[in-house]
Amino acid sequence: LFVDEELKAGVATALGPDAARYLGSVLRLGAGADVLLFDDRTGEWRAPIVEIGKRGAVLRPAERTRARERVPDLWLCAAPIKRARFEWMAEKACELGAARFVPVVTAHTEVRGVKAERLRAHMIEAAEQCERTAIPALGEMQALKVLLRDWPEGRALIFCDEEAGGEPALDAMPGEPAAILIGPEGGFNADERARIAAHPAAVRVSLGPRILRADTAAAAALSLWQAARGD
Ligand code: SAM
Repeated sequence: LFVDEELKAGVATALGPDAARYLGSVLRLGAGADVLLFDDRTGEWRAPIVEIGKRGAVLRPAERTRARERVPDLWLCAAPIKRARFEWMAEKACELGAARFVPVVTAHTEVRGVKAERLRAHMIEAAEQCERTAIPALGEMQALKVLLRDWPEGRALIFCDEEAGGEPALDAMPGEPAAILIGPEGGFNADERARIAAHPAAVRVSLGPRILRADTAAAAALSLWQAARGD
């Protein structure tokens, strides 16, 4: 389970009613039972339950079981799409090891607002399920123009372009630091495509001969990058 505070050996930490219900009623755990907690700072800890009830639970980290993972410096920058699919995309970004998830508004972006708290909750849940010890950072939603203008020095821009044609070229995938850029369901418009392609950091990659939905493209690009450059 994720706790959003730094865990220390011997220092009790409190979980809220939802987590307590999950531990007590779903997993049927009581005082003394061991739970694995992680804080996205120090790593994962074995933490026995000290007390548990309807209002919450108190656990005391005993020893660290895993250090925080090394997170490859890979971002996923994607135009918001329909809520459930964008939340799915956030989960895959977490499961497939992304360090950061950045919503990017483009001309054809259908969805103008994202619920940051919900996206973060989906990433936390995904991290617990896939046993990560780190959670992708959620970047501020920003316009494509601003993202390109302020592009971080030295970071490769992996422009996923359905018009790039051909089979996905694993060796075309640049190493870290890198960022995958995925367009909206309506795609990038001509001006955006030209602007992205002209960016000095841009590497244009194909994800295969079919036109993938934006969420599928995100998962495919993350998987390809991991196959080519992941550790
Ligand atoms: N232009 C597409 C169309 O005509 O339907 C719409 C864009 S597609 C649904 C959403 C995004 O996924 C694209 O902007 C691109 O970033 C990515 N994408 C989809 N298929 C791809 C492919 N075969 N190769 C590279 N990127 C792809």
